[in-house]
Amino acid sequence: MSEGRVALVTGGTRGIGAQISIELKDAGYRVAANYGGNDAAAEKFKAETGISVYKFDVSDHEAVKAAIDQITADLGPIEILVNNAGITRDSTLHRMTFDQWNAVIQTNLSSAFNTTRCVIEGMRERNFGRIINITSMNGQCGQIGQANYAAAKSGMKGFTKSVALEGASKNITVNNIAPGYTDTEMVRAVPANVLEKIVAGIPVKRLGSVHDIARAVTFLAADEAGFITGSTLSINGGQHMY
Ligand code: NDP
Repeated sequence: MSEGRVALVTGGTRGIGAQISIELKDAGYRVAANYGGNDAAAEKFKAETGISVYKFDVSDHEAVKAAIDQITADLGPIEILVNNAGITRDSTLHRMTFDQWNAVIQTNLSSAFNTTRCVIEGMRERNFGRIINITSMNGQCGQIGQANYAAAKSGMKGFTKSVALEGASKNITVNNIAPGYTDTEMVRAVPANVLEKIVAGIPVKRLGSVHDIARAVTFLAADEAGFITGSTLSINGGQHMY
């Protein structure tokens, strides 16, 4: 029954999001992959996968509205929403600028309002919806230099629980996936000696793979996952048990 449903994956052309887009497509969904500015990566992704790509800034409410109207016209109403787009602007709080704070809150948290607000009425009318928010282990336990990022990610958790309660009677589920360190460009940018120490601190002794996260998204997106809502699935190799 999941076959043919339309899924929007924000930040869906690179890293974790790209793998989510691919695995949802392989599972039979019609996928729209959003991205923010890296046209070259998006065009390469589109050519390799055949997945439709849509460029818009998830932190811009009006741009999100216009893009979701376009996706609906192109593919149909969005029934699966994966809020995955995210950035880091790390700095300890005593050095953090307002711009660093604001960029992360707008892109990682307000974005979830922007996208979800635009699809929720349609989901309620059709009596079906799956919303999956990609948060982070660092939102669960905090991290030096990431007060902005951890605040946005843990804020998403409260958002998830509230919208889960509101949508429950309408067959709309809302869940979080909280990855630990996952092998993407974001993490490969960390100096090798630091990365070595990070991996040593992960009980399963490896980074997460993008597939580890994507297969959980596909699981939660399914029609059969209707009894799972308001929850957080931690995928972190045992590094933080929450
Ligand atoms: P990447 O940096 O590899 O990819 C980020 C994606 O988000 C890109 O497609 C990017 O678009 C898009 N994006 C960024 N800003 C915007 C914006 N304003 N509007 C639209 N799209 C935007 O990130 P990851 O794959 O590593 O991370 C994906 C998610 O997982 C994030 O929310 C991150 O916080 C979370 N996460 C990642 C972990 C990790 O270890 N990698 C650990 C825990 C959580 P473009 O290509 O145009 O730049």
